[in-house]
Amino acid sequence: MTVDLAAAAKERGIKYFLISYTDLFGVQRAKLVPASAINGMARSGAGFAGFATWLDMTPADPDLFAVPDPDSLIQLPWKPEVGWLAADLWMNGKEVAQAPRNLLKRLVKDAAAQGYTMKTGVECEFFLTTPDGLEVCDSADRQTKPCYDQSALMRQYDVIAELCDAMLALGWKPYQNDHEDANGQFEMNWNFGDVLVTADRHSFFKYMAKSIAEKHGLRATFMPKPFLNLTGSGCHAHVSVWNGERNLFEDEAGELGVSQLGYHFIGGVIHSADALCALFNPTVNSYKRINAPRTTSGATWSPNTVTYSGNNRTHMIRIPEGGRFELRLPDGAANPYLLQAGIVAAGLDGIRNKRDPGKRLDINMYTDGHLVEGVKKLPLNMLDALRALEASEVLKEGLGAFVPAYLKLKHQEWNDYARHLTQWERDVTLDC
Ligand code: ADP
Ligand code: MG
Ligand code: MG
Repeated sequence: MTVDLAAAAKERGIKYFLISYTDLFGVQRAKLVPASAINGMARSGAGFAGFATWLDMTPADPDLFAVPDPDSLIQLPWKPEVGWLAADLWMNGKEVAQAPRNLLKRLVKDAAAQGYTMKTGVECEFFLTTPDGLEVCDSADRQTKPCYDQSALMRQYDVIAELCDAMLALGWKPYQNDHEDANGQFEMNWNFGDVLVTADRHSFFKYMAKSIAEKHGLRATFMPKPFLNLTGSGCHAHVSVWNGERNLFEDEAGELGVSQLGYHFIGGVIHSADALCALFNPTVNSYKRINAPRTTSGATWSPNTVTYSGNNRTHMIRIPEGGRFELRLPDGAANPYLLQAGIVAAGLDGIRNKRDPGKRLDINMYTDGHLVEGVKKLPLNMLDALRALEASEVLKEGLGAFVPAYLKLKHQEWNDYARHLTQWERDVTLDC
């Protein structure tokens, strides 16, 4: 169903539209367009200078047009006179292949052509901090095991309830909110859906959490590891593949209730895991969450190795019940569209090539991981992950023109980071 935006504006009292796109680094870029101009923009798109954002373009390139997807319309719950629209990018009359939302749409289409609809739900953990981001928002939130702390949760009730009310009103079917494993850390869950719907909602959720926290004098951050001794912010993704009303991952007779097709999909994710880190763990900071030493709570809750298990949270992939799996690798910095694009591309490759995920491990990976041989380790830093992506024929083929564009920008970022002199280097090297 396509929405007539001018009519929707009149009907719902929308004065302005935010025509928004997400660039390769996950930054949301927008133009604020008065409702009187929306019909023209919906036809030809809002103009941008692509080079001014992270898209791998040059200052000499012609105008980039962001064409809003009317089906993505969300009225800002905290400012209902504004309507948010996710946009696809066009240049020279062609879709921009490396643009994250365009890429995900292309993969969704590829999957559909093979009879597959991927559905996913994400668990976006985040911290509420002071406005400068230096401390958690609540100085009384100090337990060493703060997970599910009732009082600390309720002290942030105003923010959490406003966010949950917003999701209820938007029809996302939120069902629980909790204090997470780090001081100042929270998670809010809403129901899974088609991969593009979840990616749009995930983007919007990040914007909404930041906006509503700001309104309350706080800051919401999805940074993977803002505090070294505390558990980091993951963004677990739950995955199933459907054909119409049938969940193709479901098979009562299969191991843990997962079908052969499901295991091939998992095999695909396992096969490409190190390269996928470039998308799932896209920042320098991401690698302080995975492979991390134990936090003050007792566990990092993030994986170190490319392994899968049943209902056991110490592995990269957990199968909590039949019909779906949970990917615990992605973190809060993952671009919502690239996160899903990576899963679809790797999973389709797994199905196509009947990839074997290997043996399930049921051990506590944190304490007994060293006892198993031949287990693949995750990349130790962003450069490792970029090189793995560079070497991945599967992802280069599956993600197409996106890969060289992304690698170019990310290598620039790595070089920028490498130019920094740290206190650690002084401490370790001054007396060498
Ligand atoms: P946990 O904390 O146990 O990992 P959560 O309840 O926080 O799990 O999140 C589970 C997510 O998985 C939710 O978004 C939920 O809607 C989603 N989900 C449930 N079943 C499926 C399924 N079959 N396919 C995809 N996602 C699913
Ligand atoms: Mg959860
Ligand atoms: Mg989880």
